Amino acid sequence: MRIGIVGAGICGLAAARTLNQLGHQAVVFEKSRAAGGRVWTYRKGEHVWDSGATSIAPRGKTIENVLLKELCTEGLVAVQKPIYVHTGLRVSPGHPNGAPRYTYLKGNAEFPKRLAEGLDIRLDTSVDSIERTSSGYKILDEEFDGLILTPPVPQTTLLLWSLGESRPMANVKYRPCLSIMLGFGAELPPTNYHAILDTDQVHPMTWLCLESVKSPERAPEGGSTLVAQMSAAFSHNYYERDDEALVKTATGYVERLFGPKFQAPTVSKVKRWKYSQPESFASYEHVNPKGSRLLIASDGILGGHVEDAYEVGTRTARQIVEVD
Ligand SMILES: Cc1cc2nc3c(=O)[nH]c(=O)nc-3n(C[C@H](O)[C@H](O)[C@H](O)COP(=O)(O)OP(=O)(O)OC[C@H]3O[C@@H](n4cnc5c(N)ncnc54)[C@H](O)[C@@H]3O)c2cc1C
Repeated sequence: MRIGIVGAGICGLAAARTLNQLGHQAVVFEKSRAAGGRVWTYRKGEHVWDSGATSIAPRGKTIENVLLKELCTEGLVAVQKPIYVHTGLRVSPGHPNGAPRYTYLKGNAEFPKRLAEGLDIRLDTSVDSIERTSSGYKILDEEFDGLILTPPVPQTTLLLWSLGESRPMANVKYRPCLSIMLGFGAELPPTNYHAILDTDQVHPMTWLCLESVKSPERAPEGGSTLVAQMSAAFSHNYYERDDEALVKTATGYVERLFGPKFQAPTVSKVKRWKYSQPESFASYEHVNPKGSRLLIASDGILGGHVEDAYEVGTRTARQIVEVD
């Protein structure tokens, strides 16, 4: 079968890889210049930030096999220090760290880059509508026996409307996230953690990841690299705020944690994620009825993590060619 896939994030890449392994043809359409979607690495000078997914926890056999066995593991390292929690920037142990977490020295975008090897991906190609034909579907004048749609649920819903279709996923809501990348010309003091999390999302800064502690080689000699992810409420209220003001806010919190050497970053960048992670989910079986050749694979269906995206991509690929 020839299957069209919209989106080259982890879901779309997992679906395409699975289809190829099962002997089918997959063509992936990706609107950006690179594969990876919300697994996104930004570099400036010797600073390296993971502004989307900050680490990968191989929970479940499917992703464990691909991450640790099938793909090249060069530069893949286990994150050594745990996650701590913070309440109003008061830091303490207490996060149930669970499965080990992995990251790539060069940045987590290595994962989609390695997954994408050998796949037929049309980059810089936005799919704005889909047509139905007598035998299947058409995307940008190419015919397919079936389609898998992988953008976040609100974007997938718009694509379905272009076909006059809908699926029961109106309950799926994503939170926005302002991700603020900071680089400093000072080394961080020793810490027992690589990241801190405000589990209640009360503080404006939910997550602070010490990128240069998480994985070595992410900062220049004598420097440090951090990424602050702001709470859903803060991100919603200040989404359009200018970068300078946002950087100042995040820097203020870093200075309170680590002292006056962290008053002013030498480099910074703000990334705005309109749909960062889902807060509610749709039922896989209701969204993807048996026998349908138009399937939805999104982290809004199984869970809001890389491993869930990989799992749902694989599952839809197997379903569309009726393997299970
Ligand atoms: C700030 C942040 C922090 C996170 N932290 C973690 C973490 O620590 N651990 C973890 O496991 N997960 C984390 N996640 C979640 C994780 O990144 C996602 O669950 C996962 O990457 C989703 O993959 P996906 O393929 O479902 O979607 P996406 O990555 O969003 O991929 C969808 C792709 O579709 C493309 N696309 C959209 N519309 C179109 C169109 N019309 N035509 C063509 N292409 C289109 C997009 O460009 C994108 O590449 C985080 C996410 C964010 C944003």
